[in-house]
Amino acid sequence: MTGIVIAIDGPAGTGKSTVSREVARRLGLAYFDTGATYRVATLACLREGVDFTVTSDVAAMVATMNVELVLDPANPRILLDDEDVSALIRTDTVALTVSKVATNLEARPILQQMQRDVIAAEVEGGRSGGKGVVVEGRDITTVIAPEADVRILMTADDEVRVARRAGEGADVATVREAVLGRDKKDATVVSFHEAADGVLTLDTTDLTIEEAVQAVLERAAEASA
Ligand code: C5P
Repeated sequence: MTGIVIAIDGPAGTGKSTVSREVARRLGLAYFDTGATYRVATLACLREGVDFTVTSDVAAMVATMNVELVLDPANPRILLDDEDVSALIRTDTVALTVSKVATNLEARPILQQMQRDVIAAEVEGGRSGGKGVVVEGRDITTVIAPEADVRILMTADDEVRVARRAGEGADVATVREAVLGRDKKDATVVSFHEAADGVLTLDTTDLTIEEAVQAVLERAAEASA
């Protein structure tokens, strides 16, 4: 008996994180935000003054950084050198720089392997006790866990996505760049606007969080039946 893997991909502002966390909480699963691994790598590079144009320097930082993930859906955290940087990785500076790490083809495979290891640990044991994990990102349904029990691509209209993020309090022009500009850069290395074969598209434009949560729970129930 091994745990369930629920993979949820999609661009920023689709409700992916909120829904993934809530599904994990209700099902007693671990919650793994793979975006946080790209963000923490970005923060580590910024702190050490790594030149983002030197791809091997970025990859070396990613390979050696000391990161710990706490996969608790009620309080997910990420530590860099034992410091809780969960809030620091959400700043505009990191959001506007993270694509430089995500599109670095030397650094990306290192983070991808780390992610596969985390998923494997949760399926066998880990903090979920082997119940499994909800994993969110851009390439989880296609590259990281194409064999996942549930594979969903969450989408929403561009303006709705920008409005959702702007509603969280930031300046609209910055939000537009941090959402749509970032998608455009990210899409150069990973495809997350159209569902791959076997992946369900969940358009959240007109859905409440609860409706989106229910849609994922239904798929999870089908997968475990
Ligand atoms: O999900 P979040 O917005 O926190 O992701 C931050 C960034 O990490 C994305 O903009 C993208 O550059 C990168 N990312 C990725 N592949 C993933 C998850 C995130 O390239 N699976």
